[in-house]
Amino acid sequence: MFREHRTEHELVRYIKRLESRDISLTTSMISLGSCTMKLNPTAAMIPISFPGFAQIHPFAPPQQTEGYRQLIGRLERWLAEITGFAACSLQPNAGSQGEYAGLLTIRAFHRSRGQEQRDACLIPASAHGTNPASAVLAGMKVVAVACDEGGNIDVADLRAKAQSHAARLAALMVTYPSTHGVFEEAIQEICGVIHEHGGQVYVDGANMNALVGLCRPADLGGDVCHLNLHKTFGIPHGGGGPGVGPICVAAHLAPFLPGHPVVATGGSRATGAVAAAPFGSPGVLPICYAYIALLGSSGLELASKTAILNANYVAERLHPHFPVLYRGARCRVAHECIVDLRALSKATGVENDDVAKRLMDYGFHAPTMSFPVPGTLMVEPTESESLAELDRFCEALISIRQEMREIEEGRFPADNNVLKGAPHTAQCVTADRWDRPYSREQAAYPTPWTRAHKFWPHVGRVDNVHGDRNLCCTWPAAAGPPAAFPLA
Ligand SMILES: *Cc1c(COP(=O)(O)O)cnc(C)c1O
Repeated sequence: MFREHRTEHELVRYIKRLESRDISLTTSMISLGSCTMKLNPTAAMIPISFPGFAQIHPFAPPQQTEGYRQLIGRLERWLAEITGFAACSLQPNAGSQGEYAGLLTIRAFHRSRGQEQRDACLIPASAHGTNPASAVLAGMKVVAVACDEGGNIDVADLRAKAQSHAARLAALMVTYPSTHGVFEEAIQEICGVIHEHGGQVYVDGANMNALVGLCRPADLGGDVCHLNLHKTFGIPHGGGGPGVGPICVAAHLAPFLPGHPVVATGGSRATGAVAAAPFGSPGVLPICYAYIALLGSSGLELASKTAILNANYVAERLHPHFPVLYRGARCRVAHECIVDLRALSKATGVENDDVAKRLMDYGFHAPTMSFPVPGTLMVEPTESESLAELDRFCEALISIRQEMREIEEGRFPADNNVLKGAPHTAQCVTADRWDRPYSREQAAYPTPWTRAHKFWPHVGRVDNVHGDRNLCCTWPAAAGPPAAFPLA
């Protein structure tokens, strides 16, 4: 690429070409649930390019980093206040790394009390995959806790497991609101059960977008939680940029916060470093600092309330067309909702893959697929989207439901229809030959807004499973022919 693009014009065109193949927030809302793809305010992001922030080495002498340390210190205090905890470490570079660091502080705490044997970690079946992975990395043994038919933690099963592992119980990892997008009403009781049996409660704070300013993980009964600054606090993610997954801990765990061999940080009896740099990725912290400072406490609270309101709006609009899988006791969701396609898939043969691909024709990125429930879509609108955009997204899904109905009614074959044929590239709909049972217009311009601004998917349907199993490495022609390494 560098050999081919020798002028600024060529490089700009190359970058623009790549960008045009990406369906991003510059086109439409990204509804990925559990990922919190919220606004990354430009005003908060510009400062990270200032030389004072951008050109400091992580091991610069302390007299050169006074400003940075002030920013880090303030941010730690704000995050501790938001979560209700006593202390904070900004060292972990991702939520998953925060989980690992948090579990290490729990292990160190147990060890400090002569309870080395506590190594069992209870994790609900609905948990994010990083939870069991972190527990194993931290040297713990995972004990799965069942969920009931409402998607909530099965408290009886939790009690039984806590009891039978009481002598070895180290921790519970719990996400609140749950990965099912529901405020579980038993959360305080759940934390109480773990404490009764000598365990610590790790709160997975990835869903803090529904909590900030409204309630605090410490008040729920947690001992430690991580935050995903790249989800809840305005740092961009999903493009491979650095994440930040700080942990906040109660006073009894503060002495064990991660230290660093070169720069003094962490607790008085610090565990080892979990990242190479003492403060993780401080280069992106000014975004989070500006986000909190600009919103203030009332703004943060309003953001959480709006995120919850938007999710409930989407759930209500979609429910007559697609069942929403889990809701709380008052029939409300938290900040995201799971759209259940499974019954429709059975009736029509249309899978959630097909809906996800078809959304591209409508100009939308797919929601989260098959997490946490296989065969479903999880939608998180966040506080950042306008009512008009939420409506446009819901109307796309409702229109897709209509397309499914036409298959149900036998107007199109189950294996050859506008959903199975999606996404449709410009090349495919303008080709001289067209032998599909639906019209080209229906394929490419299913709604009025696609006429005003059309996003053209660059590649048609691919075989996902084949692609996942057959990693293909290609070299420029000069270096020899491309080679493929099937992984399976
Ligand atoms: C995103 C997420 C994580 C992991 O966070 P990363 O920053 O991606 O490592 C953990 N738990 C839940 C519920 C999440 O949504």
